[in-house]
Parts: sequence; structure tokens; C-alpha cells
Amino acid sequence: MFRKRNGYTLLLVLAMTISLLAGCADSKNEPNNSGGNVENGSNAGSNNAGNGGNNAEADGLSGHLVTKDPLELTIHMHFADRVSYQDDWPVFQKAAELTNISLKGTAPSSATNSQELFNITMASGELPDIVHFNMKDVYDNYGVEGAFEPLNDLIDEHAPNIKALFEERPELKRYATASDGNIYYINFIPDGQVAKGWFIREDWLEKLQLEAPKTVDELYTVMKAFREQDPNGNGQKDEVPYFARVKSAALDFLVFWNANRGLYLADSKIGFGPYEDAYKTGVQNIAEWYKEGLIDPEIFTRGSKGRDIMLREDRGGITHDWLGSTAGYNDLLQGERPDFAFMPLLPPASIDGQMREETKRAEVTSSGWGIASTSKHKVEAIKYFDFWFSEEGRRLMNFGIEGVHYDMIDGKPIFKEEYLNAENGTLAALQEDGVQIEIGFHQNFDYERQWSNAIALQGEDMYTKANVFMEQYPTLSYANEERDRLTTLKSAIETYVEEMSQKWILGAEDLTDDSFAAFQKSLKNMGVEEMLQLEQQAYDRFMSQ
Ligand code: CA
Repeated sequence: MFRKRNGYTLLLVLAMTISLLAGCADSKNEPNNSGGNVENGSNAGSNNAGNGGNNAEADGLSGHLVTKDPLELTIHMHFADRVSYQDDWPVFQKAAELTNISLKGTAPSSATNSQELFNITMASGELPDIVHFNMKDVYDNYGVEGAFEPLNDLIDEHAPNIKALFEERPELKRYATASDGNIYYINFIPDGQVAKGWFIREDWLEKLQLEAPKTVDELYTVMKAFREQDPNGNGQKDEVPYFARVKSAALDFLVFWNANRGLYLADSKIGFGPYEDAYKTGVQNIAEWYKEGLIDPEIFTRGSKGRDIMLREDRGGITHDWLGSTAGYNDLLQGERPDFAFMPLLPPASIDGQMREETKRAEVTSSGWGIASTSKHKVEAIKYFDFWFSEEGRRLMNFGIEGVHYDMIDGKPIFKEEYLNAENGTLAALQEDGVQIEIGFHQNFDYERQWSNAIALQGEDMYTKANVFMEQYPTLSYANEERDRLTTLKSAIETYVEEMSQKWILGAEDLTDDSFAAFQKSLKNMGVEEMLQLEQQAYDRFMSQ
């Protein structure tokens, strides 16, 4: 069963639903593939070395060779409505040299609807050896129906690198496992931790002789001063203390009152923030700040250019947004405003004294690949998958080809200048050659550190060192009927929560004890408890795998 939408739109809708409900807002806004293919440097040095370098020796083959003679496997790969497998990608040609396995793409490059193409392929009944996709639970359900090969035994017997990674990080294996207990899909595993962070105009703090806020009360004081004391010095009260480029960011303050914006996990129990009293307290405070002019009056309507407008017009003081692109404004505005300093700030402590960052980069993503149950080359295919998890395969997918994309300097792959300074961006330039394609592989954030702004790296180091991340809602696998029911429940609940929260914050309706009790009652009538029970069931199954 597929919705009649293209894959990318559906993915975005899913991502939005997940991010709204699970509280990790708007990763969709960061211009990276799937929002996962970026990260910080904490894991930068680690790799799979020592996890078993190659799987060929037992077969009397040397190095990474999967077969004695070259073998071509067919692959369906078309995702994000624009990326299809290219037979001439240098990185995959290099892999063919090393493994003797070359891939032959079956998806037409001219196609522009990945979801439709996947549906057609699946309906054709003639699957290529390898099928790639970027919606794992859709894929898994085809696996449960028999279209894809269960990989559990193949991994045990032929994929030492994948097996070792699963042993080292059991949560990855849990995520890989479908609702029937089998693994059908080896997914892309991003690296790094920091997603969004708080930023503040440090030059404004200096001008007003204020310290960087360390608590929610100090944050209020600073925002009030930004509003009242004309830090941009134009004689007008035109400052907007807090601004954002997504409307959900109005709720980014909830953490300060220990409230959750959506589904959350605490001590193995799943809860829903808006159904709890802390949400009332949080929204009441946000509404008060809004009334006092501390939050952009147009926060719900300003749209994706909000950050750009507020910074370029020299009116915005504080935001909570992705580190890389936000830090980038220091470079962008350096020429016209040399004093401009928009610097990362650790999350001010909540009312209970704890620092909390609500967002964190995903540990897993929904992109990956598996093997058709009709393939005559399952063992070769799993060995080929495993190659990408070897030290050499991992370096190849993360950094490309030595001498072409990078040089080894002091034992580290360092990208060549032409890629670091590529006009269309480093990631896009690399992907044109088949580097950083979201197959099943383990990313190494070193690849991104090399082209990250120094201020972004400073923020990443601050957040990682202070370890301020809240426990993230896991990416669960749902059976078909669970997913269908949850989609129905969530779309109604989410719309209602968003509408009411917006009315309260804008002051269009009063948020009183009575009105909140009525809101909770409506949520109950809309099936919030059934939603929690279905999520808990999926979570318990996830933990038992
Ligand atoms: Ca002013």
C-alpha cells in the first residue's frame, strides 16, 4: 500500500511528523541529504579498523576480493527524486577493482519520482540483485512479504565487519531489524552528535555589558535587554530578541520548563508532552515572552527566510538552529559588519538547573539497501555490502579515491582544495563521483569537519563536551497495520496540538487550567492513549530484538 505521493514528499512528511512528534525539529531544513549526512567530530577518529579487515581470505581470495572472476550485480537505486546509480561513478569503479563486484544500475536517470519508480520495480516481480531505497519501513514490509532475503544468517557467516559493528553498537542492529525479527536492510549510519544549538549576538552582549545567559532566568533578562536597550544602535525599538526560520521553533523554549513538544522516551516509558501538565506551564511562559515582544511577532509566518532577514537587517539577537549554517553568517556578514559576532551558546539551564539540548543528529537513517530473495548471488552481495564496512571501503565511501579526491597527510585523508572549495558545495561535488552516497555504510564525520566553519566546530565541541543532549526518540519499526493506524491518529493529534499551541502563544485564546483540561480531554478523545500504547508496543519490540 502506497500513498499517491512522490517518495521525497512522503519522506519529508514523515520526517516532519516524526520531528514534530518526537521533538527533534526541522532537520529537514538543513541542506544535507536526508538530514543525516552531516555531523560532528566526536567520533571522527574512530573507524572499523580491527573489526576484521576483509572477508575473502577464508575463501582463498586475497584482499577484498569477493569472487575470483569479475561479477556484475544489478542494482535499483533512485532516491530523493534525483539521485540514481551511475555506472561510471569512480568510487564504485574503484570498489569493483578491489572486490571484483561491479554494479549495473537499472533505474533510469531521467526519472524524477523515486517512490513511483520503486513501486513499479516492486510490482514488476523481477527484482535486480540489490535494491536500494530510502524508506526503511516500506522496504521492511516487502521483506516480510518475501521480496527480500533475510540477511541475519548471511551477516553471521559472511559479513564480519557488519557483524562486529552490530556487536559494538546493539542499537544499530535493533534498528536494522524489521517487525518480524529479520534484517532485510543494511542502512546508512551517520556519524556525529550536534544538530541544533543556541546562538547569541555576542557583540550585543558586550555592548550592553551583559554576561552570556546561563539559566532560563538570565536568558529572560538578556532578551528583555535586547528588546529595550537598542543594541543595534539605530535609535529604534526594532530588535527581535528571538527569531527562527521554522514555526516549530516557538516551542524550542519548552525544555526550560521540562516540557516535551511531542513523543518522548523516559525510563523505557513513552510519553506525549502536550498531554502533560508541564506543557501547560511551558506554553504559558512562552506566551508571556511572546506578549512582551521577546519572540518574533511573526514567528509563525515569517518562513524559511526568517533567520536570513533578522541577521541581515541587524535586528535578531538569539536563535536555536543548525550549527553549520548558522555559524556561516559570521563569514557571510563579515564584510559589511566587522563587529558582527553570532556565537554558539550552551543551552541555558532549565528551571531544575539542568542543561538540555533537545536535538541530536540521528544515529541511523532510513536509507540503505538489501538483497532480492530471487537473486542468485546473495553471498556475493552480502560480502560486497560488508566491503563498505571494512576500513578501506569505509574510507572510500567517506573520502573517495586517494590522489583524486584526497591526499593522505599525517595518516589522515585530507580533501583536495578543489573539493573543499567546490562551487556547488563539497558534499554535492563529492556525490557527483559517488562519494557519500547513502548506501549502507558508516559515515566518518572527519569528512565534514574539514569544510566546517571554525565557529560551528567550536559549538560542536562545546555541546559534545558538556553532553547536553536529551535522550532521543528511537526510530522504530512498525508493522503495516500499526503504521496505518498511527498515521491516522498522529495527523489529527498533531494538527490539533499545533493549532492550539499557536493560539495560546499568540494570545488568541487564554491558556487556563480549565482550557488545558479541555485540551487534554480532546486529546484523549482523539486517541492519544491508543497512540501511546502502539508506540510503546513498537518500542518494547525494538528493545527485545
Ligand atoms: Ca534598535
